[in-house]
Amino acid sequence: MTRFGYDDSDVVVIVGSGAGGGTLANELCQQGIKTVVLEAGPHLTGEDYVNDEWEAFGQMAWTDPRTTSGGWQIARDFPNLPAWIVKAVGGTTTHWAGACPRFKPHEFMARSAYGDLDGTSLLDWPITLSELEPYYDRAEIKMGVTHRHGRPPLPANNNYKVFANGADKIGYRQYATGPYATNAEPYDGRPASVQDGFNFQGDKQGAKWSTLVAELPKAAKTGKLDLRPDSHAAQILHDGQGRATGVAYVDRNGTLRRQRAAVVCVAGNSIETPRLLLLSASARFPDGLANSSGQVGRNYMRHTTATAWGQFDKPVNMHRGETMAGIIADESRLDTGRGFAGGYYMQTIALGPAFFGKFVAPGSWGPELAAIVDGYRNTAGMWIIGEDMPQSGNRITLSGDTTDAHGLPVANVHFDDHPNDVAMRRHGVAQGTAVYNAVGAVRTIETPPYPSTHNLGTARMSERPGDGVLDRFGRTHDVPNLFVSDGSQFTTGAAANPTLTIVALACRQAEFIARELNKTLV
Ligand SMILES: Cc1cc2nc3c(=O)[nH]c(=O)nc-3n(C[C@H](O)[C@H](O)[C@H](O)COP(=O)(O)OP(=O)(O)OC[C@H]3O[C@@H](n4cnc5c(N)ncnc54)[C@H](O)[C@@H]3O)c2cc1C
Repeated sequence: MTRFGYDDSDVVVIVGSGAGGGTLANELCQQGIKTVVLEAGPHLTGEDYVNDEWEAFGQMAWTDPRTTSGGWQIARDFPNLPAWIVKAVGGTTTHWAGACPRFKPHEFMARSAYGDLDGTSLLDWPITLSELEPYYDRAEIKMGVTHRHGRPPLPANNNYKVFANGADKIGYRQYATGPYATNAEPYDGRPASVQDGFNFQGDKQGAKWSTLVAELPKAAKTGKLDLRPDSHAAQILHDGQGRATGVAYVDRNGTLRRQRAAVVCVAGNSIETPRLLLLSASARFPDGLANSSGQVGRNYMRHTTATAWGQFDKPVNMHRGETMAGIIADESRLDTGRGFAGGYYMQTIALGPAFFGKFVAPGSWGPELAAIVDGYRNTAGMWIIGEDMPQSGNRITLSGDTTDAHGLPVANVHFDDHPNDVAMRRHGVAQGTAVYNAVGAVRTIETPPYPSTHNLGTARMSERPGDGVLDRFGRTHDVPNLFVSDGSQFTTGAAANPTLTIVALACRQAEFIARELNKTLV
């Protein structure tokens, strides 16, 4: 196992080992760069995972306290769980499903495409789709995304067949079982999915791409990776010139350590990343590190979501097969004629009976809930996921009264729906319901948003330093050797599930960092 010295000032330190951090680590190690990854959570592996939704959630999720505020329904339904994120080696890629659409060209130019919408802080990205395309290719190849680069599709499960038939009947044409980052056949040293319905939790077999099973083991083989689980980064340190010098973190024994660094990259997911930048305030940076624009923590996005369920007179057994291997893309188009800007996807979703009972109708109890749960076997489900509008006031701040086990203020997540988000959600649920009615649903049910699984945009890229936190490579405008490497970079959220784009951006950022290190960045 590789270990670098605490005083080794040549290393790149990455905070977080998920989609952004784990991918960046591998890409840097492959280029011979010494890399230390600080991961707050434990190093769980396939053998540790349990095929039980609640136990798996307790084992993997970030359950440290967080607080929430704002008008969103999550503040009422799940006041202590605004977001659903993993705290373990591999980050949320160990819990994710695998849906992998790319952004569309207009989604990198949302401000130009949608205009000046009241109450939004829309901005164009400082990069275009054509610049990212080669990195999308690399990301898809490394993740083994189905339907791409010769990878075969996953088989259709019953949930998908209901969904696809309904889609066809109401005139949709763009539906398929992917792109999806879970193997339909063995690929890259990992097996094919056994279709056990538990890829949404930890995947015992390793058929699903995650940084745990794909990126980090490859990085370790180079001898350049020093992976430190159970290591909670508490502050990014800097010198008198305002350059990052390392990271202070609490190790598994509760000891405060300082790791020096040539470059620091933060990839803690879009709630913990701004929290860490804010916690790194100093006399020189009184409002938090890299926050001269005041934009750190702002423009938090989480996708406009809802779930539509259809119950039928015959069994569907939605839990069998891959959880989200089904997508309808017709509504993801650029078409402001529907009464809202931005597009959305419909994706198959399945929950086990325990999660279904908890999430399907928050707040309901008794005969009403029992009737829904009784219909479990005959239920088909779809998730609606669309582009939400960035708003300056939707924001991560440090809590004034709640601290974590280390005594550090926790993140408060403030979110208000924009009227555009509400209009899109209504449209999505109506269309989803129509899909199920078209194939004879005896009952349809609408479920409001779950705790946020897609957390985006709290340290956004911007052409002008005053508009955001990062430049076009994810380097902070204020601190030349400090990068952000996760979904916080997103200038706008697009309709697509974010992980493929996070991975593509990490591949591109790694090239940039390697180039700059060769020129001696610091
Ligand atoms: C149930 C579920 C299903 C999903 N399905 C999909 C899908 O189908 N498609 C898709 O594109 N996306 C999906 N997602 C979202 C996807 O998992 C995330 O977008 C992605 O993992 C985010 O990558 P990230 O690098 O920003 O953060 P993460 O992958 O969350 O990694 C962040 C890591 O940083 C660590 N960390 C945080 N703070 C600190 C600190 N201070 N010190 C040390 N370590 C720290 C965390 O413990 C964590 O391991 C899903 C998410 C969930 C929960």
